[in-house]
Amino acid sequence: MNPNSHARFAAYFSMEIALEASMPTYAGGLGILAGDTLRSAADIGLPGVGVTLLYRKGYLEQHLDSSGSQTQTPSIWSPEKVLEEKKERITVQIEGRDVHVRAWQYSIRGVGGYVIPVYLLDTALPENSPFDQSLTDSLYAGDDHYRLCQEVVLGIGGVEMLLELGYHHILTYHMNEGHSALLTLAIFSHHLQGRPIAEATAEDRDFLRKKCVFTTHTPVPAGHDQFPKDLVRHVLGEDRTRELETLECFSSDVLNMTYVALRGSHYINGVAMHHGEVSQGMFPAYPVHAITNGVHAVTWTSPAFQEMYDRHIPEWRRDNNYLRYAIGIPLGEIRDAHLESKRQLLDAVKEKTGVMLDHSVFTIGFARRAATYKRADLLFSDVERLKWIARHIGPIQVIYGGKAHPYDDPAKDMIRRVFAMAAALKDVIRIVYVENYEMRWAQLLTSGVDLWLNTPQRPYEASGTSGMKAALNGIPSFSVPDGWWIEGHVEGATGWDIGHEDIPDIVAEEIAAMYDKLEHRILPMFYGRSSAYLEIRRHTIALNGSFFNTQRMLGQYVMNAYFLGKQETSVQRAIEAVHASVVGEQ
Ligand SMILES: *Cc1c(COP(=O)(O)O)cnc(C)c1O
Repeated sequence: MNPNSHARFAAYFSMEIALEASMPTYAGGLGILAGDTLRSAADIGLPGVGVTLLYRKGYLEQHLDSSGSQTQTPSIWSPEKVLEEKKERITVQIEGRDVHVRAWQYSIRGVGGYVIPVYLLDTALPENSPFDQSLTDSLYAGDDHYRLCQEVVLGIGGVEMLLELGYHHILTYHMNEGHSALLTLAIFSHHLQGRPIAEATAEDRDFLRKKCVFTTHTPVPAGHDQFPKDLVRHVLGEDRTRELETLECFSSDVLNMTYVALRGSHYINGVAMHHGEVSQGMFPAYPVHAITNGVHAVTWTSPAFQEMYDRHIPEWRRDNNYLRYAIGIPLGEIRDAHLESKRQLLDAVKEKTGVMLDHSVFTIGFARRAATYKRADLLFSDVERLKWIARHIGPIQVIYGGKAHPYDDPAKDMIRRVFAMAAALKDVIRIVYVENYEMRWAQLLTSGVDLWLNTPQRPYEASGTSGMKAALNGIPSFSVPDGWWIEGHVEGATGWDIGHEDIPDIVAEEIAAMYDKLEHRILPMFYGRSSAYLEIRRHTIALNGSFFNTQRMLGQYVMNAYFLGKQETSVQRAIEAVHASVVGEQ
């Protein structure tokens, strides 16, 4: 490798990154987005590097009993078997102790062979206390104290580790959500080179901001990580706490990680146009932009659709824009590719649950984290009407999936309600709930069903990405107009909306719209005018698959965020070094 190859456009920090189905280093959409972003960076040869934690016990393995009650166990895996251990070691200060950190490398290889390294930080070293060793064990588990310690390892440890690994030219540090916001402290200290932070000037703060980009994902204040000042002082120590005070990161003795990230960034964005507006309302003192999320096209396209695209638009793997020309693919080929994807899904469901669903029956999919705002049970608001529709308009079957957070009892109740409904409806509508939803099931489900249902309570869905995966496989969405769907929705062309964007989100209206459209538009078309339904599949790919991908998204980050306001000569040198390394590697 070229020696300059340690210069990077972007260091991407995320609490979770979904790298492979067999690595339980993610919980849901945030981690999938991080993985998809880095996969697209490798495809287009954008010099980047990823940083996250290792999670030896993963997020969780979901177990559901016959009534849908969830229990969970750790997801144990063997990092040693799939990752390369780096010899570099760094330490971070936690509660006045030195905590030793090592890194494991995962390499993402892009379509043209370009490699992006991802470093997974690990504190399970014998020199650490048992508690410190456990800091990189579990994702989103433990109390505030555990979480804050993890965020020190991720943010501060991540910056130190990148330096130790030789990454001295990083143009932009990109915080994917606020969990990694403490990285701003580490960057600031290095910049000040020993000068006390109290003496930092406006130029120093400008330097910090120009280095950082922050993407927020949470549309409600309660979703942001917050820590009481006493805890912060205890974990980070007096000096770091004073630094945070100087940077005005506390409000009424609470450290809000979102504010740490906002204060330290020159570019801030929400993850869909509407979410950008909602976030701007939450943070009126900062300009908030919007870059709509995407998904990694090849990862989320089923083998049958991949083969079809390879035949008609072979350039699509390298350049996702070519998916626009799916508009010319004959409907019969789309039908065949879909039937093959549906067969694969139903076979997998049979293998996992013992239930053989019917290939000819209209199949609805609903799978995502089981959070209550996603309202997995909205479909059952009027069971009699749902039964009537299935009996008189056309048969329906439904496949569910999704894990509840271990502490989220209302979400666990929601899963039980879906199970209760499945039992109550079993003679009319077959409903299966797939246990332990993860990347592999997401790929099968978002390519094998006939309709992708999404019923979030507005405005809680910042973006949502599973509907984008469905679009790549010609599956229309049927969704409440929130997040990305406000942009991706063309009524009767890429799917259907549930309630209108311009009517207040009265639940009764959403429920009525959901049943009305199933009864009068969607099912009659599926069973009676199948070529019209195939047209919708084709439009879904051409209009939405070609746009809602991480390749387009990353291009927007490069143009709008990474290069914005970069004037310092050292940064220019970094860019030159990056260019030299890219040329050198080709
Ligand atoms: C894509 C994906 C998600 C995100 O789903 P949304 O419907 O966008 O919330 C969550 N979990 C897994 C495993 C996924 O693949």
